Amino acid sequence: MKDEKGMESVRLNRISGFINYEELGQKLQQIQKSSQGNVKVETAGYTNQGREIYKVSTGHGKKVVLIQSEIHGNEKTGTVALLNMLQSLGSSQSKEAKKILDELTIVAIPMMNADGSELNRRANDMDWAEVTAKFPQLAHVKPAWNYYSSPGSWNYDKNPGFDVNRDFHPDLNYVPKAEDFPGTSNAYGWYITPEAQTVRDVYKDLKAQFGKVDVFVDLHHQEFPYVEGTDDRVTMSISGKFVTNPNSPGGEKYAAYADQYNYDFSRQLNVAVYNALQAKGNSVFTNISLYDQNIDLPGTALGSFALNGSGTVLFEVSGQTQNFGQKQRGQLVKTVETGLMGIINGVADGSVHQLNPDDYQNIPLSVRTPGGL
Ligand SMILES: [Zn+2]
Repeated sequence: MKDEKGMESVRLNRISGFINYEELGQKLQQIQKSSQGNVKVETAGYTNQGREIYKVSTGHGKKVVLIQSEIHGNEKTGTVALLNMLQSLGSSQSKEAKKILDELTIVAIPMMNADGSELNRRANDMDWAEVTAKFPQLAHVKPAWNYYSSPGSWNYDKNPGFDVNRDFHPDLNYVPKAEDFPGTSNAYGWYITPEAQTVRDVYKDLKAQFGKVDVFVDLHHQEFPYVEGTDDRVTMSISGKFVTNPNSPGGEKYAAYADQYNYDFSRQLNVAVYNALQAKGNSVFTNISLYDQNIDLPGTALGSFALNGSGTVLFEVSGQTQNFGQKQRGQLVKTVETGLMGIINGVADGSVHQLNPDDYQNIPLSVRTPGGL
């Protein structure tokens, strides 16, 4: 083909299905190449089984947006949405895209739990003996509470692993201590998994370079709730609340982080996502709800990074990846992309700061039964 280079990216097919680890590496190389220097792909670290964890950067602005996908390996729409976003931002010649790249530094960590992704399961692929080999101080403690080693659909008895999204700690220099095990859901994680360590290191480097990571987004899947007060199935739930607010009753245990915690900014970011999807009008894209607002999970990446002062947004697409046909997959990927662009546009032009944080409370809740409140 004799087209000039800039056209090549336009002809790349958008990805409508899901992709595996090998295809991820190939796609990233393609995206990097067609971006003519706008997108940079690096290896940030390695999974426990030695697969690469990619750090993909675009933009040269002062505001930092960090987005990761597939910390749970069976939650795959986010990876495809990230690739589509990187491809279109990286190769677009539009004024809007140029403005975004001038204002923001966007860093994506797609498929951060590649071992879990290859097994199409939630946990990573690591056993407790590997943890104690690396951290001998843990030799005599009970394994972490988020260690999966029981029989069942994913053969965790034969091939154990950890829920990586409980392995984070707001102290980015935390070293595992015996007295902090086995832990519990409303206590911190430990950075015992190489996947969480890698993301922590990327976060720390960005913080050192830019002063802060302005925004952190984590892309997930959930079950099939309804939008409160309607008969509509939720397409995607969102949230900006992962720990008890340090400045509210019950949040005293997070007092050390109270000054930097920025719940209002997290709420504004969520409102930006909601507005971007409502603007699509009368379609499945508008069936958006808030995720459970009563969780207290400081060991999640979102919880730990929120306590570090990042504006934080959770995306929870409905359904697990094996449930869908091609058309629905395409819609779900588009939902994630639209929400991400709501954040990116709002942060790039500063309009997110004009949004009323209290509008977050007007986003409908998720309920288990149609019409329920
Ligand atoms: Zn998840």
